[in-house]
Amino acid sequence: MTDSTEDRIEELRRIIEYHNHRYYIEAAPEISDLEFDRLMLELRDLEQRHPERITPSSPTRRVGGGPIEGFRSVPHPVPMLSIENTYNEEEVREFDGRIRRLLEGAAPRYIVEQKIDGVSASLLYENGLFSLGLTRGDGARGDDITHNLRTVRDIPLRLIGSPPPVLEVRGEVYMTHSELSRLNRLQAEAGERVFANCRNATAGSLKLLDPRQSSRRNLRFFAHSEGRLVGLGLSSHLEFLERVRAFGIPAVPHGGIFDSIDGALAWCADALESREGLDYETDGLVIKIDGFAQRERLGATSKSPRWVIALKVELWQAETRVLDIRVQVGKGGTLTPVAELETVEIAGTRVSRVSLHNADEIARKDIRIGDHVVVEKAGKIIPHVVRVELEKRTGTELPYLFPTECPVCRGEVGRDEGGVYIRCLNPSCPAQLKERVRYLASRKALDIEGLGPALIDQLVDRGLVSSLTDIYALTARQLEGLERMGEKSAQNLVEAVRASKGRGLERVLAGLGIRHIGERNARLLAGEFGDIRSLTEATEERLAAIGGIGPVVAESVYRFFRSRAGRDIVRELGRHGVDLTAGSGAARPREHEEFRDRTFVVTGTLSRHGRAEMEALIRKLGGKTTSAVSRKTDFVVAGRDPGGKLEKARVLGVRVLDEEEFERMAGLSGAPVPGEPAGDGD
Ligand SMILES: [Zn+2]
Repeated sequence: MTDSTEDRIEELRRIIEYHNHRYYIEAAPEISDLEFDRLMLELRDLEQRHPERITPSSPTRRVGGGPIEGFRSVPHPVPMLSIENTYNEEEVREFDGRIRRLLEGAAPRYIVEQKIDGVSASLLYENGLFSLGLTRGDGARGDDITHNLRTVRDIPLRLIGSPPPVLEVRGEVYMTHSELSRLNRLQAEAGERVFANCRNATAGSLKLLDPRQSSRRNLRFFAHSEGRLVGLGLSSHLEFLERVRAFGIPAVPHGGIFDSIDGALAWCADALESREGLDYETDGLVIKIDGFAQRERLGATSKSPRWVIALKVELWQAETRVLDIRVQVGKGGTLTPVAELETVEIAGTRVSRVSLHNADEIARKDIRIGDHVVVEKAGKIIPHVVRVELEKRTGTELPYLFPTECPVCRGEVGRDEGGVYIRCLNPSCPAQLKERVRYLASRKALDIEGLGPALIDQLVDRGLVSSLTDIYALTARQLEGLERMGEKSAQNLVEAVRASKGRGLERVLAGLGIRHIGERNARLLAGEFGDIRSLTEATEERLAAIGGIGPVVAESVYRFFRSRAGRDIVRELGRHGVDLTAGSGAARPREHEEFRDRTFVVTGTLSRHGRAEMEALIRKLGGKTTSAVSRKTDFVVAGRDPGGKLEKARVLGVRVLDEEEFERMAGLSGAPVPGEPAGDGD
């Protein structure tokens, strides 16, 4: 054989390994499948003509090995210890406390990783070539599963770059949900057993003696731990993960470095919320000390290292059927598909519907009406569909066709900027309006008691509410005509709407349905600007500069207040006397003893305040406002031309204040509060 043939064989192996990596790991192929096959063909051909050049790490050997007789037990060079598990945050904080004591004042640095629910394995690379793959076994010895691990496309047979003489990488072999669906269908067709979950399927596949069988299982791999390392000179886990990735091995997704356990736990909470978007199973998070020097100081107990803990999440799965898929229109016009399920009990909760989020999710999971699906609940997070049981398809299932118009108003729909969600583009879509009113009235926003979904439906359907702020114009008489609405409840509702005007800027902002503005961001904005005017006048740069806001939220807020709809809402809220100030800080009025639980009636024309503004101020100070004077009225604030209400106040002996007296009482000027009622009770 000539040197050039030898060179070409080596070159082909490198090129193929590279494109394999681009295809399977980066999911960004640079050449077509046909070109890839040509390279493989050329290599296979050269190897056939020069069998003495065939090595176990050649890409042609991935599926080429014959079945093995049985599993050989091999000792681990470094024992594979188990890690401490917990299901609650409190124990993670105790873990942090122990670490701080052991480190005697040195600050721990944590790294948090996804905990992949698969099967642990160790991969040994010698001079860059994959030479041995073991199961965890009992931690001291594992089974040699090299023949099966070679078939895992994620696992490079030859490392990229300049690898060290010895590199032992530990990680998790796993199967994706979509692969499990596919595999189970094939298993059922062949009359073989179907697997209950991804982990069982992975374990079953790794125990196969014939690698040709396991190669059809499309297993995947994530590296997460160090085994024996020679000649790498690393000082931290993060460096390790980055190096491993550079060598071509996929590293487990992680949240980076955290200087406090609070930061680490916050990332855990977010990661658990978003695990539904993953096509693989995770059963928690792993929190590790990042630096090797700190790890060494902490050491290990007989069972597990002291520098790592897994925060697991309880997972429950159940099987059910999709009876129908319907679309709901949200407050921003988003069309959200929801699966109506045959009711199933999961961890004590009856589940009969789950959100499918968007059209892409339905397509990705290939969910059809009539499908048998596996629904999962993780901890306290709402359940979701994990996968379809393809093996149970009968052919009668119907693919879901996403509506091309709004199911409520028949308006035009379009994809949003992100391209993921489909929205109704009609700004006066009643479905959106209902959702927005519901949102504004909700507990975390204006908390309007009695303004529930059934009533909102009637208000919008009958045209009594055709914009968000119309709720403030509702009268008891209008409400009395509605279903299940008596005189008393109508009055109560009008009163509740009125009372909600005094909740302050933060709660109003939280309820307007501005994209990205929930309770937290509303609090930040209200605290920063103090009143609606400063907020609406803020530039996008100014908004983005607020700690915790950032450019995406800033743009959304800026656009809302510059939009015609946004300006209309602000103007109308002001006109109806809704308090649009933050109500904290020395310059603004606070609750006042004189006002608390006292009932006020404002009448006549005031010179320094609008009537609605005056009422908002009273509510802010802790008082209540009504429109009619009665024996329950504590004060009447009278401006010019007060009319009959002043008369009645005098008759009932209710204390009457003019504007100036009111201001003194509210602490808006320095003078003492008036002492005597104005009326004399005659
Ligand atoms: Zn619509």
